[in-house]
Amino acid sequence: MIFFDSASTTPLHPEVLKTYVYILENYFANSDALYDYALKSSSLMEQSREQIASMLKVKDNEIFFTSGASESNNMLIKGISFAYQHKGKHLITSAVEHSSVMGAFKQLEEYFGFEVTYLPVNSKGVVECEQLKKALRPDTILVSIMSVNNEVGSINDLKALSKIVKTYSHAFFHSDCTQSLAKMEIPMECLDAASFSAHKIYGCKGSGFLYKKVNIQLLPLINGGQQEEGLRGGTSNHPCNIVLAKTLRLAMEKMDEHRQKVAQLNDLLRRELNRMDDIIINSPEDATPYILNFSCTCMTSEIMLNALNERQIYVSAQSTCHSKTKSVSEVLLAMGIGQKRASQAIRISFSYLNTEEEVIEFIRNLKEILNEYRIK
Ligand code: PMP
Repeated sequence: MIFFDSASTTPLHPEVLKTYVYILENYFANSDALYDYALKSSSLMEQSREQIASMLKVKDNEIFFTSGASESNNMLIKGISFAYQHKGKHLITSAVEHSSVMGAFKQLEEYFGFEVTYLPVNSKGVVECEQLKKALRPDTILVSIMSVNNEVGSINDLKALSKIVKTYSHAFFHSDCTQSLAKMEIPMECLDAASFSAHKIYGCKGSGFLYKKVNIQLLPLINGGQQEEGLRGGTSNHPCNIVLAKTLRLAMEKMDEHRQKVAQLNDLLRRELNRMDDIIINSPEDATPYILNFSCTCMTSEIMLNALNERQIYVSAQSTCHSKTKSVSEVLLAMGIGQKRASQAIRISFSYLNTEEEVIEFIRNLKEILNEYRIK
């Protein structure tokens, strides 16, 4: 099998698995209970929180454990909107956000009377500062713009965007950093809030965290107990939360090494694709090396995905969270790539576990599929 879908998810790191099993077997007590045995669960969880905060150079009380980036996005976007609606009901995001961001904004717009500006992106899939500046208003309370796009890998300039928000408004600036965590430097000092997921960095599925500055109030979406400072009720998933620090440490320690390896794979794939007829690359040259999106101009994504699947080569057409809809990628359309080419898109996303041999094998199969299809 060739697995080229790491933007969708990654396997558990063996060290993470070992610690996870150890915690499950040895510390099952509810981390909110008061006896000594439970205090061990909670103290390990708090240690993990401190370590995550320290790795990201933020404060311990700015890290909130969640079930992943989708929840973090919802918790922050709706939480801020509900808490600050007396100050204004205007929100800004981009046209190419993940469905968990987009869905939250659409809901606020349709059911709660907020006004949302969806910023366009340029042909590279990036939000331009001028567009943001024009959209800001005195009643804008939140701007949410993703760090790295999950379909094409475009990288937004968070420092520049944040400067615009801070100079021209009183709004908070949030970023969905799911695809950049442990893959590139994230300018945390420019962000008021950011969302992260564990399973994209060889951690547990259903695990992640929200970073949020202390001064930001959120209206909790899940009412319940005192967990996560009352912002997220429900018994803590302490085994996942405890191993998240290790997951992040392991990924961050190897960030440069892994990025270099993946960049070589990306270069090789790009070179080979550029030599082929019927292929147009959709990802910009300066995208993250982890994601490469291209279109096969003679066949639809669906046919190509099926043909690759038969050969045990696993890739995506667009975001996995959209994989069951028949619609074409909104991201590609927003970049000005037409309907037809968007319906032919394939997303390759790499891991440091991939090899050059796999890229070569992929190209060989791609050529075979295209040839067979042309003959038919
Ligand atoms: N945001 C982005 C940019 C993503 O790529 C993903 C994963 N598809 C998510 C959010 C959702 O993450 P999770 O699976 O942890 O909810």
